[in-house]
Amino acid sequence: MELDSILLPGIDPERPLVIAGPCSAETEEQTMNTARQLAADGIKIMRAGIWKPRTKPGGFEGVGSVGLAWLKKVKQETGLYVSTEVATQKHVYEALKYGIDILWIGARTTANPFAVQEIAEALQGVDIPVLVKNPVNPDLELWIGALERLGNAGLTKLGAIHRGFSSYDKKIYRNLPQWHIPIELKRRYPNLPVICDPSHIGGKRDLIQPLSQQAMDLNFEGLIIETHCDPDNAWSDASQQVTPSVLKDILSGLVIRDGKQSTEDLSVLRRQIDEIDDQLLELLAKRMRISCEIGTFKKEHNMTVVQTERYDEILGKRISQAEGMGMNPEFMRVVLEAIHEESVRQQIDILNK
Ligand code: PEP
Ligand code: MN
Repeated sequence: MELDSILLPGIDPERPLVIAGPCSAETEEQTMNTARQLAADGIKIMRAGIWKPRTKPGGFEGVGSVGLAWLKKVKQETGLYVSTEVATQKHVYEALKYGIDILWIGARTTANPFAVQEIAEALQGVDIPVLVKNPVNPDLELWIGALERLGNAGLTKLGAIHRGFSSYDKKIYRNLPQWHIPIELKRRYPNLPVICDPSHIGGKRDLIQPLSQQAMDLNFEGLIIETHCDPDNAWSDASQQVTPSVLKDILSGLVIRDGKQSTEDLSVLRRQIDEIDDQLLELLAKRMRISCEIGTFKKEHNMTVVQTERYDEILGKRISQAEGMGMNPEFMRVVLEAIHEESVRQQIDILNK
């Protein structure tokens, strides 16, 4: 899969590529008003949902095609590029008819291969930029699969949007970032632009700035931020939208570090890390071998594999030991639990041999 840049003429290749605009186009006035302010602040690409996927029926489901005419007017009047979400073939045909510049596929749609395939087929022969949001569930293969379906239909201007992953237990975030997933996507497809959607990850205005900074520090290419001329009265996602002037402050506060700088001066430190990783792997392999010996002993003496007391004791001890060494106890718990789980798996194998 060759995934190319989504850059459009006149768009600065400097990070971050910014897409801003309301969750939903609501009225012509709200759409134009927001667009004019964004354009005055130097934003180049506007977003606005026309068809809204809602968890429950009865809510505001988007203005529908009438809003496409407003986006066309935005383009003519302000010169902004315009983008919207498509979920069906009909949406694609309508959006193309009104000259929408960039399409995105929403999280619920990415999770459905039939829907993505239909969209891909509707787009055959139209090489428009398409951004694919991650599926609601944390499944990297499903995300890549959607990009591949579009790639197979001949689309070359593809990008990904990281909008976080749904969880039952919503604490800080509306959708958990699970940064390792977009990072792995970037590792596998280094040329694929990845845009962070801090609005849908955070679900709250206050989280947009820190999430945006984190995305920039992780070398993401862009940001898509829900921006509304009157966020408190927005018809959808009111709590996570900001005004154009707050957006301006958020963007100007970002520290953009160089992702391409020569890393020669890091080579000594990196070599040390490589060496330590080698040692860690050797120690882990040794630990696993000993754990297998214990497994054999347990089998010979007809003992169960997991001895809860022993496990609780070592876990507690190691975590406080790690904390004393300046490490994060939660991190250490995750590491130790993973090691323990693998040891148990191997011992069960031995027991059943
Ligand atoms: C949106 O961008 O407004 C939207 C519905 O997002 P998602 O598909 O990420 O939920
Ligand atoms: Mn939204």
